[in-house]
Amino acid sequence: MEEAKQLFKKLKIHTLLDLALLVPTSYNDTTLTLHPELGKINTLEAKVIDSSVYQGKLRITFMLTQSQRRISSMFFKVTPYHHKLFEVGSSHVIQGKLEQYKGYWQMSQPKSIKQVGKITSKYKTVLKESEISSLIEVYISEQNLYNEGLDSKEVSTLIHLHFPKSIEEVYSEGKLKNDLVNTLKFIEAYNHLKKLRGKKTDFLPMHTLTGNCQPFVNALPFKLTTEQKHVISEIKQDLANENKAAKRMVVGDVGSGKTMVILASVMMALPYKSILMAPTSLLALQLYEESCKHLPSSVNIALVMQGKDKGCYQDADFIIGTHALLYKEDLPQASLVMVDEQHRFGTKQRAMLEALVSTGKCKPHYIQFSATPIPRTQAMMESELLDVSLITTTPFEREVHTKTITKPDFPNLLEHIQDEISQNHQVLIIYPLVEASTEIPYQSLEESRGFWEGKFENVYLTHGKDKQKEEVLLEFREQGSILLATTVVEVGISLPKLTLIVIVGAERLGLATLHQLRGRVGRNGLKSWCYLYSNFKASERLTQFTKTTNGFDIAKLDLKFRDSGDILDGTIQSGQKFKWLDMGEDEDVVARAKSRLGSVKV
Ligand code: ADP
Ligand code: MG
Repeated sequence: MEEAKQLFKKLKIHTLLDLALLVPTSYNDTTLTLHPELGKINTLEAKVIDSSVYQGKLRITFMLTQSQRRISSMFFKVTPYHHKLFEVGSSHVIQGKLEQYKGYWQMSQPKSIKQVGKITSKYKTVLKESEISSLIEVYISEQNLYNEGLDSKEVSTLIHLHFPKSIEEVYSEGKLKNDLVNTLKFIEAYNHLKKLRGKKTDFLPMHTLTGNCQPFVNALPFKLTTEQKHVISEIKQDLANENKAAKRMVVGDVGSGKTMVILASVMMALPYKSILMAPTSLLALQLYEESCKHLPSSVNIALVMQGKDKGCYQDADFIIGTHALLYKEDLPQASLVMVDEQHRFGTKQRAMLEALVSTGKCKPHYIQFSATPIPRTQAMMESELLDVSLITTTPFEREVHTKTITKPDFPNLLEHIQDEISQNHQVLIIYPLVEASTEIPYQSLEESRGFWEGKFENVYLTHGKDKQKEEVLLEFREQGSILLATTVVEVGISLPKLTLIVIVGAERLGLATLHQLRGRVGRNGLKSWCYLYSNFKASERLTQFTKTTNGFDIAKLDLKFRDSGDILDGTIQSGQKFKWLDMGEDEDVVARAKSRLGSVKV
């Protein structure tokens, strides 16, 4: 047992199904070949009729028992063992690739098979062959697999895969059979969900929150969208639960109106306190301003940022801040903790915040907001750990036209930029690098600066390491025409006059990043453009991207093109988590796995 544990550790696996899902990469079949085929591995009965040494090589001639045909074999690294093994007159079952040379059959370096009629599975793992085989032998039994909650079809699929009676059971035309693959998908999803379910822990809430957000909603200058209302009602139920602290993630595209959901939650938490953490001080400030504008004046709001607090946070009903919150020792306890743009924080920071504001057994209700759309399948998976709400629509239709362009389009682009600026609109140009580099076939921010400053007025420039970034952005918002930047402007203040974005070297970026960048323009419903500039002909990936603005569709596309070669900056997470399951396509498989788990006690 202890030994098996060590092996499991080496394999980096944790469950029986993890082991069962290590599917053999090939099989060694020692069944006698009935009809020899050239170019294939054949297993044949044969007798040695001649043996000679030629230039240090051993040449053996066999007579095939079945067909009485001759076949010659050459051994290159010869030891006395070979001479002894293949003595003239000895009988063998030989295995090797059968080839023909000038009409004669040959089999180079055949093996002499001891155990005939056996199929052995071959695994590619970090373990020795004997170790992995014995693990499989011991653990992959029908009984064990049934105990995992699999049905008879799934059990027999796994048994067939690991212990096939014939290769035809498993392979068809050299590939794993389709129905086996489909079953493996299910088992993979099921195993993953089961593991997640094992990790889930619920806590008691500090308080049951039943504040009324209706007066706030009624007082808004616009009507909430159906999805905003729906999410708010989901949160209302979460907060009113006496037995369980909420743990929810609200996922919605940029501009889908998540802030209103945050504010409604603050109202529902009253008279208890809420805390909201944002990734940048600009965003924190913006959230503070919006809160002051929309929440009733009776709600006491405070802002916590490094060196520039607003209001007294000890007395506040609603504390908004950056990660500076994490270092306040006298932060009051809140019953509701929220994190905006959670994808911008490290898990550690998020955990720190959660820990900071929780006491003993009870936890505050915890709601995260994310603007990184995930495919529905992934949301279904993640909902094992936390509840997920999706906002897939935006309050007003944004009109953003996306086009791929190359060098010959540049004069037209300049004209268009001029046109937008003359309408008092603003333009954002994203460069791949700050400084010149020979590795990237594009100009850098610094190299291009002179060009733009020579042609246009009010050109601003900022990048990730720029200490004045926030000041530059604020000044640009008021009086700029063109902002030159790197991808770091991904999150920041909203720039309502921005109507045109150019992304230089777009083929280098992941679709999620492109989507975030494109989300910068047209925030106020102004007709806008996104130009994807590339030195190369547009790829299918970018072309598809130009055809949709829905973040959830883009998340799907992102999966589809994950292995695509035209992403160089590593924006896309490398390696897919699943071997068989396709997160873009296999929603129904995940749904089935979930419903199976519903009836299984884990
Ligand atoms: P997100 O945080 O999801 O990116 P915001 O909450 O910042 O989006 O909302 C974007 C803009 O839409 C804001 O100016 C906000 O006031 C406005 N807004 C939010 N909900 C609605 C709505 N239901 N109708 C009209 N405008 C809305
Ligand atoms: Mg937001």
